[in-house]
Amino acid sequence: MNLIFLGKQGVGKGTYAQRFGERNGIPQIATGDLLREEAKSGSELGKKVQAIMASGVLVPTETVGKLLEKRLLEADAQNGFILDGFPRSMEQAQELDRILKHIHKQVELVINFSASDATLFSRLSGRRTCSKCSKIYHLTNIPPKVPGKCDIDGADLYQREDDKEEAIQKRFAIYDEQTRPVIAFYREKNLLVEIDSDREIEAVLLDVKAVVAEKVKK
Ligand code: AMP
Repeated sequence: MNLIFLGKQGVGKGTYAQRFGERNGIPQIATGDLLREEAKSGSELGKKVQAIMASGVLVPTETVGKLLEKRLLEADAQNGFILDGFPRSMEQAQELDRILKHIHKQVELVINFSASDATLFSRLSGRRTCSKCSKIYHLTNIPPKVPGKCDIDGADLYQREDDKEEAIQKRFAIYDEQTRPVIAFYREKNLLVEIDSDREIEAVLLDVKAVVAEKVKK
């Protein structure tokens, strides 16, 4: 199944996408990860992307769209995928329609995760990410077994530049202005389901499982 996970920064959609994807054999495709990989590669494009991302604003749609289309054509995405972090604006929703038409695919379900701003802020400021495999931890909610090290590969965990306080405020404002309209866009297409994420991760995942199973039945 081709899924989109929507929700404000810190709502946990990356964690849900990672876990649900692993359990169901479909990849989580996070545009933030694709962009961070490009930035790490040290390419000219990567250098530009890195500067934009550190400030918390959006990378141009054309750049993200190209990386995304290439990723969607990889072998592991042919039996389904979870899009995490795209689309983030109406322009990107239209770009996604164009890309999917071009590669003969379509979105089957869009899940919008929500939680209070206070919860989101605490989740973001405590978030730590593995520098090697991108696995997500949280200082108190999902601590690694050894402080500062990834459980899987032992690599160092780091705090993203854009998870620092000033960048978080900017990202929230961009979300309200540019990303929120995307929810209505998918609601009108009858693809949207809402899930309350102010709860334990596994409780949220049970709901995800249920709504996907419901959709498969139809
Ligand atoms: P994320 O990991 O999804 O929180 O994304 C981190 C940063 O990557 C964002 O603040 C943007 O600068 C950039 N980014 C990720 N996805 C997109 C996208 N769909 N469009 C534009 N910029 C993006």
